[in-house]
Amino acid sequence: MQLQTARDKNRDRRFHMNPPPALNGPPPFYKLASKGCERQRSPVTRRCTAPRRVAEVLLTCQTESVSFSTMAGVAVPIVELTGGVKFPMIGFGTWQSAPDVVGNAVRTAIDAGYRHIDCAWNYFNEKEVGQAIKDKIAEGKIKREDVFITTKLWCTYHRPEDVKRGFQESLNDLGLDYIDLFLIHGPPAFKPGPKWFPTDDSDFDDTDYVDTFKAMESLVDEGLCRAIGLSNFNTQQLERVLQNCRIKPAVNQVELHPYLVQQKLVDYCKSKNVVITAYSPLGSPGRDFAQPGEARVLEDPVVLDIAKNHGKTPAQVLLRYHLDRGIVVIPKSVTPSRIKENLQVLDFSLTADDIKTLGSLDRKNRYVDWSFCKTHKYFPFNDSA
Ligand code: NAP
Repeated sequence: MQLQTARDKNRDRRFHMNPPPALNGPPPFYKLASKGCERQRSPVTRRCTAPRRVAEVLLTCQTESVSFSTMAGVAVPIVELTGGVKFPMIGFGTWQSAPDVVGNAVRTAIDAGYRHIDCAWNYFNEKEVGQAIKDKIAEGKIKREDVFITTKLWCTYHRPEDVKRGFQESLNDLGLDYIDLFLIHGPPAFKPGPKWFPTDDSDFDDTDYVDTFKAMESLVDEGLCRAIGLSNFNTQQLERVLQNCRIKPAVNQVELHPYLVQQKLVDYCKSKNVVITAYSPLGSPGRDFAQPGEARVLEDPVVLDIAKNHGKTPAQVLLRYHLDRGIVVIPKSVTPSRIKENLQVLDFSLTADDIKTLGSLDRKNRYVDWSFCKTHKYFPFNDSA
């Protein structure tokens, strides 16, 4: 018998429901997934017996406590998370990669040498991502322990009693028996239930993200994930978690690129040894709610100029900008040539002047602004530091 997950029901419902009038169209923040990708529950989870990564070669790097791991012939830098978990500094983004193309993208990425995949419950494509990983394991290209998988708890699962269920839906869809890194997708909670996207304040829930995080600590205790962390948390919110947690958040995944430098947040995370992952490192030009005529960091003349000087592409410069500052990057692409291009960033580095010049482009420009929950008490971006 095929069982539907809450997410399947959501996807079905989204295909059939009329768009909320207030939004004048479907919620723009998350593109509707394509039809014909029904989901089935994966077998019950088992305990994590994850062996650890091998083949690491310590080399010099511009950031401290970073080593390199040779993967598919590509020397990808690694940072150590709390507890010694090794985190490849170049990952592969999967947001808004349609279910019918994401599998090929992930397979191409693994062949190219990516060993870190960034997923989330509300990308609505975890089954296809998981299948691609399984294919590569079956082919003998990788073992499960060679690839670092991040996923995220969606905001309708913030109540402590719902956390494990939200986690398990991702785990089952990915077809895995443990997750390497599990993040709270964002601090605001929404009412539990099938309506995953708020259309007004009555859909908000006031669950404290500290309580959500404490429930996630139990998943580590149970061996279901190796590390836990946060996404879209501002300095004050991160500080509250740090003050109240038993297991330190290993990572804060936030939007970062030269148009949104967030130096105060970056410095705070570094001072607390919380690793930063830069999402939308290329400025998310293909997202479905990109504004016509918006300033694109990928096309900024300064970026183009620096790229020309190094004989690299603008995307490679933007990715290197983070790596040279000790920040993890997770570019998304479904285009094979770009997937490979985005990994070819280890044969050059930017000068201190390049980094300063890129940083001076800051215009506090959020491409992913979570404006659908601006009035939530835990909305994180009121102080765009
Ligand atoms: P991004 O990686 O900044 O940009 C992706 C876009 O750039 C796609 O349209 C892609 O096109 C294009 N692109 C990729 N490589 C390129 C290249 N070398 N040259 C020119 N264009 C290129 O955007 P993102 O998807 O917003 O962010 C990356 C990942 O971060 C996501 O996929 C997701 O995993 C994560 N994320 C997390 C959050 C969060 O709230 N935690 C929010 C947003 C994103 P094609 O695909 O057509 O090649």
